[in-house]
Amino acid sequence: MSRTYWVRLATALAAAGSLWLAASQAPPPADLTVTKVADDLHVIVGSGGNVAVLTTEEGVILVDDKFERNVPEILAKVRTLTDKPVRYVLNTHQHGDHTGGNAALIQTAEIVAHKNARANMVKNAQPGVMRMAFSDEFELHLAGKEVRARHLGLGHTNGDAVMHFPKHRVVHTGDLFVRGTPFIDYANGGSSDGWMKTLDNILALDFDRIIPGHGDICGREELVRWKASFETIRGRVREMSRAGKSLEEVTRDLKVDDQPGWSSTGLLARSLPGLYEELSRGR
Ligand SMILES: [Zn+2]
Repeated sequence: MSRTYWVRLATALAAAGSLWLAASQAPPPADLTVTKVADDLHVIVGSGGNVAVLTTEEGVILVDDKFERNVPEILAKVRTLTDKPVRYVLNTHQHGDHTGGNAALIQTAEIVAHKNARANMVKNAQPGVMRMAFSDEFELHLAGKEVRARHLGLGHTNGDAVMHFPKHRVVHTGDLFVRGTPFIDYANGGSSDGWMKTLDNILALDFDRIIPGHGDICGREELVRWKASFETIRGRVREMSRAGKSLEEVTRDLKVDDQPGWSSTGLLARSLPGLYEELSRGR
């Protein structure tokens, strides 16, 4: 084919691409980077939730798959680690920054999530709904390697699963733990009360390192400190509610930013009406 053809094709594709971008208001794909956890376990970071990549002789297991627009770059990063195909995707929960790649990947890979996460995807009319779902626990064994998916209670949503790599002594928590302010998705069954118990259940697992839903890999102590911050904020909201403060007053007066990495704007502001209501019950 002539060079002119290719130039025309490239121009057409670029135009189509910018139209799509304009239509979807989506930013251009971020540059993803790969962090090594072990020889066969890596994390793809940047744009959306953290993606764990477990490589085996029989194929790749991913935990989460960011946004749909990230799929080509995710697959390019996987190809730098192995020539084997992606066989499985385990979703930590249904949010689109963790399941956006499902619609593309489900054509060639099996996708698994907790049954409530699946039900939330159906309810919210999200693309890429998985064919398989589990209730409490799901084990995936591939070429002698293992990932255990566990639903440990309510929290960020009602369908969160923690992915445990027992031999690596690593967990991927999804958004049950992020290096910053949590979001309690009350519309999809989230609960701050349940979340505290779920964090204890996570800490009861046998592991040393954590891949959080968003942010840097860390150890158990960061999760313990983060839970203490979460309890502090919950305690403040509960006290203000008991003192008769309205949601507007709590929103205005709640001190948040003395907790490392926490912010009163954004995600917490979105969670606050539900948190106030939850902690005011039976006052
Ligand atoms: Zn989430």
